[in-house]
Amino acid sequence: MHLDDPLELHLRLTPKQKERLAAARLKTPRDILWRFPARYESFHEPKSIRDLAAGDRAVITGHVVSAKIVKTFRTKVALAETVIEDATGKIRTIWFNQPYIAKTLKPEIEYSFAGRVGEGKRGLFLTNPKYRAGEALAEETDQKTLTPVYPESRGVSSEWLAYATEKLLAAFSGALDDPLSHDILARYKLPSLKTALHAIHQPPTLRIAEAARKRFAFEEIFFIQLSRQQIKAARSRSEAFPVRLAPAEFKPFLQSLPFALTRAQQNAAKAVLADISRRTPMARLLEGDVGSGKTMVAAIAAFAAVKNNYQVAYMAPTEILARQHYDDFCARLKPHRIPVGLITSSECRKFPSKAFPNQDTHTSRAQFLKWTSSGELPIVIGTHALIQDSMKFKKLALAIIDEQHRFGINQRAELISGTTGGIPHLLSMTATPIPRTLALTIYGDLDLALIDEMPPERKKIVTMVVPPPQRERAYEQMRAEIKKGRQAFVVCPRIEENTDSKTALEMKSVKAEHKKLSRDIFPEFCVEMLHGKLLPKEKERIMQNFRTGKIHVLVATSVIEVGVNVPNATLILIEGADRFGLAQLHQLRGRVLRSTHQPYCFVFTDSTTQKTLARLQALVEAKNGFELAEYDLKFRGAGELSGSGQWGISDAGMEALKNIKMVEAARAEAQALLAKDPELAAYPKLQTFARRFSNIHFE
Ligand code: ADP
Ligand code: MG
Repeated sequence: MHLDDPLELHLRLTPKQKERLAAARLKTPRDILWRFPARYESFHEPKSIRDLAAGDRAVITGHVVSAKIVKTFRTKVALAETVIEDATGKIRTIWFNQPYIAKTLKPEIEYSFAGRVGEGKRGLFLTNPKYRAGEALAEETDQKTLTPVYPESRGVSSEWLAYATEKLLAAFSGALDDPLSHDILARYKLPSLKTALHAIHQPPTLRIAEAARKRFAFEEIFFIQLSRQQIKAARSRSEAFPVRLAPAEFKPFLQSLPFALTRAQQNAAKAVLADISRRTPMARLLEGDVGSGKTMVAAIAAFAAVKNNYQVAYMAPTEILARQHYDDFCARLKPHRIPVGLITSSECRKFPSKAFPNQDTHTSRAQFLKWTSSGELPIVIGTHALIQDSMKFKKLALAIIDEQHRFGINQRAELISGTTGGIPHLLSMTATPIPRTLALTIYGDLDLALIDEMPPERKKIVTMVVPPPQRERAYEQMRAEIKKGRQAFVVCPRIEENTDSKTALEMKSVKAEHKKLSRDIFPEFCVEMLHGKLLPKEKERIMQNFRTGKIHVLVATSVIEVGVNVPNATLILIEGADRFGLAQLHQLRGRVLRSTHQPYCFVFTDSTTQKTLARLQALVEAKNGFELAEYDLKFRGAGELSGSGQWGISDAGMEALKNIKMVEAARAEAQALLAKDPELAAYPKLQTFARRFSNIHFE
């Protein structure tokens, strides 16, 4: 009897049910028992029948005015059908497979009914509501008046989950092995696993459900911490190539830069250089708002590594970005005669070329791989192509990952596994501002460095949520900026027009906007589009033309979100802004914070809900990305933080992230445990638990 048994060992399932459960990733008793209710319905707060709407889960109080048993026409399922009336109206009620209910309900008694409101040919109806006699209700304490409401998946209803949970709880009650020690439970006043499972699924009161939820939140953060701390401990036992460079040797490089480093860049560079001078591999996350100049810190560390005759790998999530870093590195390193390579799935390049020391050149993949494995190419910049099996380095001392939240932990691991004689130092960079609690958790194995200052003379972006009637004025402003010599981005939530769906009208597409802007609005300018479906060559051509100013307006999807650096672009217009997370919007507008010109961000939405408008207002007012990330965490859940979906943490875990004390406690407990028992030898249970959390992806 095991929580990870196949579900059908414990529940009778039809093949169809099995299929649907598998699709909902519910395959074991553990999967079901750890799928917690999203909320609870209470028989205490009835609604008026008049106010019901299809799709509601509602509680009503009323009398049964008619009742009968009917057989469905085709399937011959017996059902009880009644009509319930309150002071405001009537509603039909149906119970499948429970015909006796038609006889049980008494017309003279007032009942409470809790269920889902459906809509059919004959109007609204309630299906399979739970019911309780009104008078009995008054006598009851809180006991059992809370009905769990589960997150549903296709074909897996909340009602079924409640039923399955009840069965499994009864079956497993005696066989639940608590992975948390008595000590920890006592220290944080957390309920045991058994108590908590009962309490979260069938709580007598909301307060008790809350306590259970807190336990599961703690548990999850604790396990993530354990797995991260184990990674960290393992790393500290391995060896890296120490990279050391005297200040005098840095001088020529720093002097060749067109600007002085900001204080924040200097501090970050110092921390990184101190790290990589050691034999213990560095694992540092460099966090800095978009445009704060993280690339420079990476370049300094890379310069030091190369001067020590080691190699550097620099991985970026998109071809555009890899190409941009490549160009940047080529320009910065040219005076110092350091070769740089670029590898993506579509091309390999090397700077300088043999024949022309001022130019770069295409190379064959085979040749490129040879240069890398022989160590002849000291700096290799690329996309995921960098972690292909065929890629070998001679002496890789430093691995840099840009926009690291775009990569999974496994890809990170692959990049730093690729060499003999030592583990490379790892520098991860991100502009996605994440709240401290989240950083401490999912990046628990990394040391943090912060760039909290912008290069000098950057102007604050003027951000405006533009009401639809003022669209023309926004275009006029755009025209004025372009006439001054500036460039603009227009960002849309999708690529194609979607003609068959209702949302098509609301959701702007790159193709449609491109057509409209180039033909009707800005016929005098060069308007082009950029999106993920274009061929790499085409993308490169367009980026090149935008960089050199040939293209005035670039209509794009959020592919431009990460790192694209065109300082002359000073205006960004974002369509369908409600479709993006706040942190993502902040990233997008960071595209125009790259020069000393006044930047603008115009935000459009067709949504008129108070919530959306309040969120967008936060974008206008926030001082930095961290504020926005905290805002998103508070009001939308951490899933929104990455913009593109999941952090792989459950809802309960997400809740915990709002609580810095809990996160710190879980972290301290994990550290204490590993200090005593690094391999968790005495805790085989924990070892398996921690492993379950080691694969969380950051996308
Ligand atoms: P991000 O942190 O978003 O990766 P980048 O490294 O792309 O930012 O830098 C943004 C821009 O700022 C680049 O054009 C870069 O050359 C410039 N920059 C970086 N550091 C400084 C500095 N200290 N002073 C002036 N400009 C800088
Ligand atoms: Mg960057």
